[in-house]
Amino acid sequence: MKTATLNNGITMPMLGFGVYQIAPEQTEAAVIGALQNGYRLIDTAAAYMNEEAVGRAVKQSGVPRDDVFITTKLWVQDAGEAAAAKALDVSLQKLGLDYVDLYLIHQPYGDIHGAWRTMEAAVKAGKIRAIGVSNFHPDRVADLIAHHDTVPAVNQIELHPFYQRETEVAFHREHGILTQSWASFAEGQNDIFKHPVLSAIAAEHGKSVAQVILRWLNQRGVAVIPKSVTPARVIENAQIFDFELSAQEMAQIAALDTGKSLFFDHRDPERVKWLSGMKIHD
Ligand code: NAP
Repeated sequence: MKTATLNNGITMPMLGFGVYQIAPEQTEAAVIGALQNGYRLIDTAAAYMNEEAVGRAVKQSGVPRDDVFITTKLWVQDAGEAAAAKALDVSLQKLGLDYVDLYLIHQPYGDIHGAWRTMEAAVKAGKIRAIGVSNFHPDRVADLIAHHDTVPAVNQIELHPFYQRETEVAFHREHGILTQSWASFAEGQNDIFKHPVLSAIAAEHGKSVAQVILRWLNQRGVAVIPKSVTPARVIENAQIFDFELSAQEMAQIAALDTGKSLFFDHRDPERVKWLSGMKIHD
């Protein structure tokens, strides 16, 4: 497993298993399957409603806790100094863990500065090993850096062949922040698994389009967390360390960038309002 060293010195796998949109009753088996097939990072969130199943799976997998890197995320409703402390304890309790490896602010809204202070304190208290953000555009990252001691270790953002965000990846690199891609496969949009350019590159290496995409991201220094509930795909998605894309192939994929999100812009006022109104608990 290829790993990255985060800006506080801890090690994080460059490939993990995402559990967004996996129903709680399916999550346990899916995570056990991923761990049995070599994944050592699980990406969940309070808002995914499956932290308990992730925790049970880690325990049942037989893989020692310290060998698994667990990420969870703070929802908007809990952004704030006191609310974040409570939300972290709830997540730890649901996961059945004493600590998480990475805790991310899920969305760049609400009292993120209060939340960040709590997260910094929780690192000192041993409840979190590294802290980071998700869906932050560079201005929001810069705001956090300007007002606190801790630079985010990770920014988890939408990133796939149709939305490559090279400037943002470079900005993160400059500041010692690791970029992690969500929706590496664009959740299957644009018929991505049959894309002619990606299919031709895949055929050249005897690999699948999914493997080419994940490899392309890792070669750009971007960590990946593909999701699948299909056991054969879970295995397939982990087999990305035995081939290398050439500079020419990297350039061919770079040409697919549209510079636009396939989901939504986190700066769109309607989205800010919608996500900020989403409650995950009373
Ligand atoms: P994704 O990984 O781009 O796509 C998942 C889809 O691709 C599923 O429909 C899956 O189908 C299919 N798939 C997976 N492997 C495949 C393969 N080898 N061949 C063909 N199809 C394949 O989308 P995502 O789940 O949205 O993103 C990944 C993870 O990122 C999430 O699980 C979550 O942990 C994280 N995420 C974070 C945010 C955020 O705001 N921070 C937002 C979205 C996602 P099956 O499952 O049916 O096999």
